[in-house]
Amino acid sequence: MRLATFGDDRIGVVHGDAVHDVSALVDDGGSGSRMRRLIEAWPTLDSTAVSAAADRSSPARLADIELQPPVPDPTKIIAAPVNYADHQSEMNVDAHVSALGFFLKAPSSLLRPGGTIQLPYDDRRFDQEGELACIIGRRARSLTPAEALDHVFGYTGLMDITMRGGEDRSTRKSFETFTPLGPWIVTADEFGAPGEVDLECWVGGEQRQKANTRNLIWDVAQLVSYASSVTTLHPGDVIATGTPAGVGPLAAGDTVVLNLSGLGGRLEVDVRADAAVPSPTTGKDRGPVPPPAR
Ligand code: MN
Repeated sequence: MRLATFGDDRIGVVHGDAVHDVSALVDDGGSGSRMRRLIEAWPTLDSTAVSAAADRSSPARLADIELQPPVPDPTKIIAAPVNYADHQSEMNVDAHVSALGFFLKAPSSLLRPGGTIQLPYDDRRFDQEGELACIIGRRARSLTPAEALDHVFGYTGLMDITMRGGEDRSTRKSFETFTPLGPWIVTADEFGAPGEVDLECWVGGEQRQKANTRNLIWDVAQLVSYASSVTTLHPGDVIATGTPAGVGPLAAGDTVVLNLSGLGGRLEVDVRADAAVPSPTTGKDRGPVPPPAR
């Protein structure tokens, strides 16, 4: 099942180019977004009830609604640094995920599908990183890798937009608009094996990334297990699995497109730099050296 958030905290089932509003499955007035409450309630919902609710609702066309990040308010966004060997080599770094653990991105950096990345500085390099993300389904703590995938609700696309330099990762990746997410969640039962996903990312019509998640250094089960050993995972939490080789600089006017097999739709955003100013921090010539622009 494909589940989207759209408009003013509405949730819907996506069929082809139609969206069926199923917001009524979740009571008004709870805390957190409807999608988070739907994910929490999911084990108590009969899938036929969800389908019936979708059948009862008259469909809107995807083109006529405004998709939002499928989980607009996760309690946290966990992300894997350096989780593909080819990206480790293009960044000229000697450590990968097994030495680094994870980092956090601010949930306020989420951007809706079709939204606009705003580059904040005019004297720094910003890169695209296309990634597979998993959405946590159930509260989880200290999971073994064997238990981990049972706690994943579904999968979606994520762009981990990144300022290069020596500042802390949590700073460089947390600017407003730096985490496009979507276009929707595909539930785990429908998405297929998370270790066999084709990933492609284009910038300005040029294909920059083409990979398969079988080449992840830590696979989804290992990432979820490790994350749950550090922190309690909550329904709707987002875990980004890392980016393969092919990162490169973004410029105002670019369009960035991410496609994952199993998603059934692309995540696409624009890039602008409407209010860019000089960077107030001095990390520009520090940190890992990214690949040259092609
Ligand atoms: Mn990344």
